[in-house]
This record gives sequence, C-alpha cells and structure tokens, in this order.
Amino acid sequence: MNKITITDIDVQDKKVLMRVDFNVPITPEGGVGDDTRISAAIPSIEYVLKKGGSVVLMSHLGRPKGKPSPEFSLKPVAADLSKKLGIDVKFASDCVGAEATQMSADLKAGEVLLLENLRFHAEEEGKGVSAEEQEAFAKQLAAHGEVYVNDAFGTAHRAHASMAVVTKSFKDCAAGFLLEKEINYLAKTLEAPEKPFVAIIGGAKISGKIDVILNLMDKVDSLLIGGGMAYTFFKAMGRKIGGSIHEDDKMELALKIMKDAENNGVQLLLPVDNVIGDAFSADANIRIVEGDIPDGWEGMDIGPKTREIFTDVIADAKTVIWNGPMGCFEMAPFAGGTNAVATAVAETNCVSIIGGGDSVSAIKKAGLDHLITHISTGGGASLELMEGKALPGLEALTDK
Ligand code: AMP
Repeated sequence: MNKITITDIDVQDKKVLMRVDFNVPITPEGGVGDDTRISAAIPSIEYVLKKGGSVVLMSHLGRPKGKPSPEFSLKPVAADLSKKLGIDVKFASDCVGAEATQMSADLKAGEVLLLENLRFHAEEEGKGVSAEEQEAFAKQLAAHGEVYVNDAFGTAHRAHASMAVVTKSFKDCAAGFLLEKEINYLAKTLEAPEKPFVAIIGGAKISGKIDVILNLMDKVDSLLIGGGMAYTFFKAMGRKIGGSIHEDDKMELALKIMKDAENNGVQLLLPVDNVIGDAFSADANIRIVEGDIPDGWEGMDIGPKTREIFTDVIADAKTVIWNGPMGCFEMAPFAGGTNAVATAVAETNCVSIIGGGDSVSAIKKAGLDHLITHISTGGGASLELMEGKALPGLEALTDK
C-alpha cells in the first residue's frame, strides 16, 4: 500500500481522530447485534492507547438521513466498546458542537471518546448541502484531533466529510490496521493472484456485479456464476426460464460476457441444474431440473450437479474470491447451493477471500468463517476494489 499507516505516525500524547465503521445492527432491545465491525477496529484503538495517545472515534450507523434519530444512536456501541477495551468509553451526544468539543479537549492519554452518529448531519454525506457547508462541518470534526487515522474500510468507497474532506486539515492522515489489511488482501490478491484463480459470483442481478465481472475477466482462470443473475444468461441463450428473476436489458451484456470469456480463455461455468420452486416462498413445491424451467416455476438455487462441478473447480484453485449467494439462501430449502460453495471455499487449501454481506453471513452461518483467509468487513468497498475502482477514503490519505 502506498499510503502511510498508523505505525508511521507518532501518537504519543496525541489526540488521534479515528474514522471507524461501527455501522452495526442494533437489536430490538437496544444492544449491539453482530459486533464484527467493532472487534475489527480494536487493534488500531489499542495501538494508540498503548503508545500513550488518546482516541476520538467517529462513525455512522444506518441511514438517519441527515437528522438525529434515536434508533440510529451509537450509544449502545460505546457500551459494547467499553467492555471490549476494559475502560469506560466516553460518549458525546453529538459529533460536533460545544459538548463534543469540550469532551475531546478534556480527553487524556489512554482515554477514548466516541462521537454520536456522523450522519445525524447532512454535511457528512454532503446531500443537499453546499461544498462550503461540508467543509465547515469537516473542520469542526478535525478540531477533535491532532492526527487522523482512517480505519473504516466498510465506508472507504464513499467520499464523505469524515473521510475525504476532514483529511485536508491534517498533515498526517494514516490508514489503520483494518484498512491496511483489507487493502493488502484484496488489492494484492487481485494484482498478483496465485493461479488457478477462481471467482465465484452470485446474487440477484447481473447489473449489481457487472463491473466486477468485467474487471476480473482478464485475471481469473474460472468464473463460476450462480444466483439469480444466471437466469439472464439462460434467457439470452434462448432457454426457457419460467418466472425466474432476470434482466431483459442485460441479455446482450450476458452474451458479451460469454464471448469475452471465450476470447480470454476463461472457463465460464453456469449452473447445469437448478432447484426450482412454484412460488418465491420457503413453502413452495420444489423440483430439480436440468435445462428449461417450466412456466409457473422459478429458479431459486443451483442444483446438486452444479454444486459438485463448482466444488471440483474450487478444490483445484490456489486463489478464490467469492461474492454473492448461489440462490435464495435466506429460505432454508434454497440455501443448499450457497452452503455447498461455502463448504468448498472453506475446505480449499488456498487463499480465500469473501466479500459481500450475504456470502459473509452464509459462511458464518455455516460456522466455517475461521477457515477463510480473509473475510472482508465491507461489502460495498470490497466490490469497488474488485471492480478495479479507487476508494476515495484511501486516496485521501497521505502518500508514503
Ligand atoms: P446481491 O445483493 O446482488 O448479492 O443479491 C443477494 C440476493 O440475491 C439475496 O437476497 C438472494 O436471496 C438473492 N438471490 C439469489 N439467487 C436468487 C434467485 N435465484 N432468485 C431471486 N433472488 C435470488
């Protein structure tokens, strides 16, 4: 990575303003649900504390649309973080203003302050506000710290105030350990993958993953396509797909992808059989078909033969990237294909990288996450890296 990291800066007796991604689910009881993202930020926070600095943390949570709303408060995160760090994490009820300014000014070495949700201010995302207003907001944030660290990989694809504007106020803007790790795994793997390199792409639609597919086309040896997007390919090939999800306006693109794969010597594998249902429901009647899908039925998952073929290709890989489920895995009868791929990826003895919320939750649900080389904490950001795009949150940091 060509950006300075947290170990390149002096944090002793310094207030470190750190952008983290604490966008975690909040339970109906008001506690933290999946705390993966909080745990992922701990190494950077502890590093600063150990080196004699203090930390002012800022994050967003959910989509409060630029106004304070209690259900998106970061307060439960402060409680969870206090437990994890074993210290009392202070909490400011706004990210800017008199209270937050006083609290960050009073912060002593070894202490941590968490600011309330950045997105309670429209200036964070910059929607409906002028560039000057966003800059003024970023300056108020910047006043909380003397050095800046970005460890919010999950949000690094957004050019928001706390990531791409606040950085103008600092001489040193460094990447935290999580951001560094994510970039190193994903970007480095994409740059120089050990071969055979297999990409497994699934999810609802081609349109959501097209840039990933195009960017991977000259890098991978095999491209395994599952999930709803497969049916657009089938329809474009002139096959009957019943009521399966598809995008008519992407059929030409599907044919182009197939042609590109052929021209690039990429093995493109589509499902050879499908689990179909007579309704989009967990209670649907189920059949397994090869070839056409009859009217009144829709493709819900990859079939058993496809699972075997995909498993064999994955088993021979030296590098695997997986993004997107193979079927409607949220419904138990249609989770088999996604689970089979999760197992195959976990069982390979190769570099395995999983990005995208659904594939990550599938692998965790299967209890196989400990067998994966790298599970990305940011679906959108990892997709953009896989698309070959630059991340604004990373670009804004100081060059090495
Ligand atoms: P994405 O966000 O594009 O990765 O899509 C994930 C969603 O695709 C999940 O909610 C799946 O239920 C859905 N999905 C996967 N396969 C199918 C399918 N065959 N038909 C409809 N939806 C699907």
